[in-house]
Amino acid sequence: MAEPSNLQHAGRDATAEDLHERLARVQLLLLDVDGVLTDGGVTWTNDGIEQKTFSIRDGLGIRLWQQSGGRTGIVTGRSSHIVQLRSEELGIGIVRQGIDDKLSAATAIVTECGLSWEQTAFIGDDLPDLPVVLRCGVGVAVADACPELVAAANLVTRLPGGRGAVREVIERMLKARGSWDGIVRRHAAVRT
Ligand SMILES: [Mg+2]
Repeated sequence: MAEPSNLQHAGRDATAEDLHERLARVQLLLLDVDGVLTDGGVTWTNDGIEQKTFSIRDGLGIRLWQQSGGRTGIVTGRSSHIVQLRSEELGIGIVRQGIDDKLSAATAIVTECGLSWEQTAFIGDDLPDLPVVLRCGVGVAVADACPELVAAANLVTRLPGGRGAVREVIERMLKARGSWDGIVRRHAAVRT
């Protein structure tokens, strides 16, 4: 875990222009699950089945990101079949569950993808995400993240986890690379 002094993240006080450049460089989006792709709630049925709720808008955002050439990966401390199912539905090929050390797992993914940390964004909500947020070119805290993660992040979303935070970040990355307007135009063209 990072020492408090390491919270002087290079991008924490970055200008809007610097953030735009950082967003435009991202090729790999890594995501925590609970509190990021969900609102952090977990429901158990009487049969012991775990249930989570995902945002369909986040899902479309992930598809659009991947269609634009971006890569997506999941790094989560817990482990559940639902996450595997949701990942398969969205075509997320990189799924690391039951991860205690997220920095090590993220480091391995970045290396396997042949990318750099500057080309990587990570969205988190709680303390286990802190070392990865500090390391990434774009470290993101969702709006309702713990205060330490908010303080460390390059970007804090307007929307909370499970309610569009991932979509918000993806839109910002696609806008930064100049891809978003074309995506909207293609959708408009389909309907006319
Ligand atoms: Mg979490």
